[in-house]
Formats: sequence, C-alpha cells, structure tokens
Amino acid sequence: MLIQRIPVGPLYTNCYVIACDKTGEAAVVDPGGDAEDILDFVENNTLVVKYVILTHGHSDHIAGVEHIKAATGAKIAIHSADAPMLTDASKNLSQNVFGKRLNLPEADIILKDGDILKMGLFDIDIIHTPGHTQGGICLSVENILITGDTLFACSVGRSDLPGGNHEQLISSIKEKLLKFTDDVKVFPGHGPVTTIGIERSTNNFIR
Ligand SMILES: [Zn+2]
Ligand SMILES: [Zn+2]
Repeated sequence: MLIQRIPVGPLYTNCYVIACDKTGEAAVVDPGGDAEDILDFVENNTLVVKYVILTHGHSDHIAGVEHIKAATGAKIAIHSADAPMLTDASKNLSQNVFGKRLNLPEADIILKDGDILKMGLFDIDIIHTPGHTQGGICLSVENILITGDTLFACSVGRSDLPGGNHEQLISSIKEKLLKFTDDVKVFPGHGPVTTIGIERSTNNFIR
C-alpha cells in the first residue's frame, strides 16, 4: 500500500492519499484545501480516486472536496453525524478558518462504525471515534491508522468546539485505538506521524 502526506490549507492539515499499489485504486482522506497539489500527486502516480473520505466535518479537512470530486468522480464518504457539516457553512466553521462560508456538495456515502470500504486489494475499516466532533472517524488499513483530529503525536484533539466532548474523546481513543498493537503507525490530521506504542507510553492525555 502507498500513503502520501500532503499538508494543505491555512492550518497545515494533513491530507493523505492512500492507494493500492497493485491496482492503482486510491482514496483521498481530508482534502482540506490546495486541491491542485493533491490532484498533481494523483495524476503523477496515475491513480484512480474511488473515494474522498472525511475523518470529520471541519472546514480545514473538507474544503477541497468539490474540486476533487469534479476532477476524479470520487464518492464523498463521511460519518452520518458529521454529514450535515458538508452542506452547512455555519456547522463546518469555514468562516473562522477560511474567512468565507463554504457550502459543499452532500455526501455520497454515509458511514457508520464497522463499515468497510474496498480499495483495490485493501479493506479500509471505519472506526467511529466521537469526541472531537460527534461524527469523527479513524481509518484502519493494513498496519496504519489515520486518526484525523482524534489523536495526535503526544496530544489529542480539541473538545471545545461545537459537538466536542473531552471524556468521550478520551474513551474513544482508549477503547477503539489503544487496542491496536504498538507497531501500528498513526497518521494524524495535523503534525508528525507517530505509533500506537509511542502514544501508549508517552501521551499524557491517555496514559
Ligand atoms: Zn477538527
Ligand atoms: Zn483539523
């Protein structure tokens, strides 16, 4: 499997392109802006983007969805609880982040905990991890987790925004993410890559 991090937008959100190296089928996770950079990578690697998967509905993770969908025909997938944030600028905080209201296309695929998306020879498992937002998800594929704004290197997501709940966020991480083995790599929505083992032993929010 291939994974490429592309920092996008004013908050340096980590967009990830993941792809099956055998078939070229790909998914773009959290295209929060700079869609041209993402599409350049897709084109240079002759990937076929099947999905745009959103870890949650904040504007810094979704701003590029319309552009990516128009260019690739990919289906937009988001958890049911965050789906309204795509089409309602007052819910996705775009005024705060981009200084303008972003009303984006509605979702094509509504996700729930336990869903599996097929990408070439790989399964992408959807894990519902509410607490940063109510529809926050993490993605598990092969030996990696993409954690959005749920878990960061040595930190966790904010819970002071609408839909946030700190206790719920911590239980989501403890119950749904820390069950993975120490060697599993963690690719967060902002900042550097880490592992479950490093976070289990050094992250003061969840130790
Ligand atoms: Zn967020
Ligand atoms: Zn974010």
